[in-house]
Amino acid sequence: MKKITTINPATEEEIKSYNRFSAKEAKEKITKANEAYQTWKKTSFEERSKLMHKLAIIFEENKEEYAQLATQEMGKIIKQSRAEIEKCAKICRYYANNIKELLANKIVETEARKSYVTFQPLGVALAVMPWNFPFYQVIRFAAPAIMAGNTSVLKHASNVQGCAFALEEAFKKAGFPKGVFTNLNLESQDIKTIIKDKNIVAVTLTGSEPAGRSIAKIAGENLKKTVLELGGSDAYIILEDADLEKATDLATYGRLQNNGQTCIAAKRFIVLEEIYDNFLQLFTQKMKDAKMGAPTNEDVYYGPLARIDLRDELHKQVEKTVKQGGKLVLGGKIPDRKGAYYPATILADLKVGMTAFDEELFGPVASVIKAKNEKEAIELANSSNFGLGSGVITGDVQRGEKIALQLEAGNSFVNKLVVSDPRLPFGGIKNSGYGRELSSYGIREFVNTKSIWID
Ligand code: NDP
Repeated sequence: MKKITTINPATEEEIKSYNRFSAKEAKEKITKANEAYQTWKKTSFEERSKLMHKLAIIFEENKEEYAQLATQEMGKIIKQSRAEIEKCAKICRYYANNIKELLANKIVETEARKSYVTFQPLGVALAVMPWNFPFYQVIRFAAPAIMAGNTSVLKHASNVQGCAFALEEAFKKAGFPKGVFTNLNLESQDIKTIIKDKNIVAVTLTGSEPAGRSIAKIAGENLKKTVLELGGSDAYIILEDADLEKATDLATYGRLQNNGQTCIAAKRFIVLEEIYDNFLQLFTQKMKDAKMGAPTNEDVYYGPLARIDLRDELHKQVEKTVKQGGKLVLGGKIPDRKGAYYPATILADLKVGMTAFDEELFGPVASVIKAKNEKEAIELANSSNFGLGSGVITGDVQRGEKIALQLEAGNSFVNKLVVSDPRLPFGGIKNSGYGRELSSYGIREFVNTKSIWID
């Protein structure tokens, strides 16, 4: 039997080994999930809400344990792990409280005696999830999908199997029937067999662009619906009228939060030339002052990356960019210590075509780009294959709003870092994927939007 051993990225020590599921075992679990669906789909919104409220309580009661687990497995600093668990509870409550309204029938006036749109569940949905928010990414999909009457199976990232099983246990503790939420500890090579399974009706993936392409291809061949939340290289335009203290505070937090490994992290800072040098100086100082250290330490600003191979890949991207003419202003050296640490790094004077401009850099590396004027700043922001988040920092909110409307991204925020909120849809365009999560838009991705006509 194959095993997967999780590794603490801060210490490089082994945490625990888990038996991998074979494709056959996974298919048996999917059959059970489909059996559970036959009953679950008939439950009332009230019954589902009751359990979802309980799940929120489970997250709150077990916050410290779950947070420690996430920190141990993927290196997130402990304060942010706790915040992630709180956010899970918030999402559960949002869907528990609003389900009736979100999925209420919509009467449409026609020549019929009665015509309306109703939203019915589809069946068993497969979620392929990443390690960067090991609890939240799963709940962001599972809470709405399950509230809509579907059941769900999870193929979580290999390095966070402890979190994956903790999530399965949390659903059980909350009282959800067996089979409503199941963890499949699979290798990604078995995904093809799973997607083909007749009981899988849809797939959602949050992860890298290559994983997205691979899953979309298999799902497409099998005519299964997909939602893809892939990478990003979010641009923040810093206008000449911006408050530089605020802009550099946002930039520092945006680039170092979650050790730099967030899909909607601020990655490219496009700064107007009038303030470029001052921005760079202040930003460099703040990035330098941010304390790197053990993620279990309460007072560090950022910790290690999630895996050594990811850290090494990031370093290669930095080296490539410097060879291409990018200016290394800060960091850029692998520290001489155990763990997948990488220092806060700034690459400046970047241009289209350089690695750090074109690719997603998943770690504490900021790309700073000079723009002659507002028009060029917008063009540079949009010169990316990605389109997940984006932002504008300015002293003039009306000017900011006009620019936000021109940015090619699924989310554009003025004077605030992009953040997901259960009340608003979340997702991307271009190579950042398609489909939406959260809010009424997210819950409608995994339902049969059905027209009823009574003549
Ligand atoms: P992946 O995209 O490879 O992993 C995400 C999930 O997809 C995991 O469950 C993984 O399983 C699975 N997976 C990977 N490849 C396939 C495949 N071909 N078919 C089916 N499932 C697959 O992310 P990595 O961990 O390798 O990180 C690499 C890069 O991805 C990062 O540097 C970053 O750029 C990007 N990324 C972006 C995220 C985002 O939120 N936008 C989140 C995570 C990564 P397994 O772990 O078993 O390989």
